[in-house]
Amino acid sequence: MAQQRTSRVLIDKLFVLFLFTGIALPLGLPLYGSLESHVGFLRHTAAADKTVEELLTPQPAQLAAVPLYPWRVGIQAGHWKIDELPEELRRLRASTGARYGNYLEVDANLDVARRVVQYLLAAGIQVDLFPATVPPGYQADAFVAVHADGAYRAGVRGWKIATPWRSSEASRLLRDALVQTYPQFTGLPEDRYGTTYNMRGYYAFSPHRFRHAIAGTTPAIIIETGFVTVAEDREVLFGAPDTVARGIAAGIIRYLSRRDPLDLSAVVVRRYPVMRVAGRQAELTFHPEEGAKVAGRLEEGTLVRPVHQENGWVEVIVWGNYRRFGWMRQTDLEIVGGSS
Ligand SMILES: [Zn+2]
Repeated sequence: MAQQRTSRVLIDKLFVLFLFTGIALPLGLPLYGSLESHVGFLRHTAAADKTVEELLTPQPAQLAAVPLYPWRVGIQAGHWKIDELPEELRRLRASTGARYGNYLEVDANLDVARRVVQYLLAAGIQVDLFPATVPPGYQADAFVAVHADGAYRAGVRGWKIATPWRSSEASRLLRDALVQTYPQFTGLPEDRYGTTYNMRGYYAFSPHRFRHAIAGTTPAIIIETGFVTVAEDREVLFGAPDTVARGIAAGIIRYLSRRDPLDLSAVVVRRYPVMRVAGRQAELTFHPEEGAKVAGRLEEGTLVRPVHQENGWVEVIVWGNYRRFGWMRQTDLEIVGGSS
């Protein structure tokens, strides 16, 4: 009997509980929602009441600035859809790329670029594949323009990789990474003296000249994968395009894996004051090292535009003659006017 009463009470209690939750849930949800927004409002207004000391104390919430999304990389197939360049770049629409018989540079570029995209996607990286036209102010963790060269000079061979003139430390690290990986995968030699002004001043990474250019803070390089006009290079570019793609993708991944996402200073482009040649017949060299090949000599007083500086060497463009560029010893230069 006592047993029965207990279970009866239990059923009554469950019934009341059921009634309560049945009514409370539909009533409670909107109430809860408005409470949440009210708390949000309070949180918002509370910031104004904080003391200076409180505001200066680092809060965990500041960690929200840490990028917790996948790396993003832009790959450009050089000359692809070049005829679709916007009006501001119309003079480049005829730049259809190098060719040798039926071998077209643009075909190699696109094939390689598509393969690079697949390798990067497989590594969990977000990738944008671009034709000749890039979106204005494109922002990413890396941008790589894929090209191949054409020339009929005797003895030319191999690849070269260049950063923009105005390059950040991040662009240089990206270049250094590919310089390591690309020959490992392709076996191609470096075209050590072949970097041109056009590579350094490439339109797609010249936001100061064109609207359709990547952001100055996007680490960028242009690679000339080899010569379509040279038989040994063609064997790789057209015969083994996957090694070309892997050489590029491996370099990008190597760069990204070493990049500190919190180091925002690495993507900043540094500016330098105009300088003047102080020494007589000062050497302009191809590389920043003693014994490097000499590109020419500059008269005392010649003005130069520095673009980078490292280990006592300054990379310069000769003022008024942009096709002359290279490295000079810092001791051969002085700042014009003595201040920056
Ligand atoms: Zn090209």
